[in-house]
Amino acid sequence: MSDNVMIVTTSDPLAMPPEERRIAAFNLLCELRPEGWNEELLVSDTPVFFSGVEAAGSVYCPFCGTEIDDWLSRELCRLEESDPSMLTTVTPCCNRQTSLNDLDYDGEQGFGCVAIELWNPGDDLEPAELQQLEAALGVPVRVIWQRI
Ligand SMILES: [Zn+2]
Repeated sequence: MSDNVMIVTTSDPLAMPPEERRIAAFNLLCELRPEGWNEELLVSDTPVFFSGVEAAGSVYCPFCGTEIDDWLSRELCRLEESDPSMLTTVTPCCNRQTSLNDLDYDGEQGFGCVAIELWNPGDDLEPAELQQLEAALGVPVRVIWQRI
């Protein structure tokens, strides 16, 4: 049996909602999905990369469609070693400036400084529930699913 992990993070990878809003959104998600467990509120000064289902989804250049998986792995190492808030990069295939957050990921993946993690919460969030979470957190959010 594998576990499904729901990760709710901000659409803007650098968004940092104030603490009371983070806690409000965390409590709200726990109320919406009481069957979930291992609930955790992650806060980081710098964006953390959340990979999606199977953790090995491909990533493509948003401009020319070239698969750039290997390059992304190296970029993620570079981020850890230098300044993790520097998501700006230049694509290896066609030399265009973009953000690592805006690459064309196969499945939902991406960066965030604030994330709420919940294991096996059941169904995906309904649009109305997402809106409630966004109201609590004060910024747009997205959901990333991981299978562990
Ligand atoms: Zn390209």
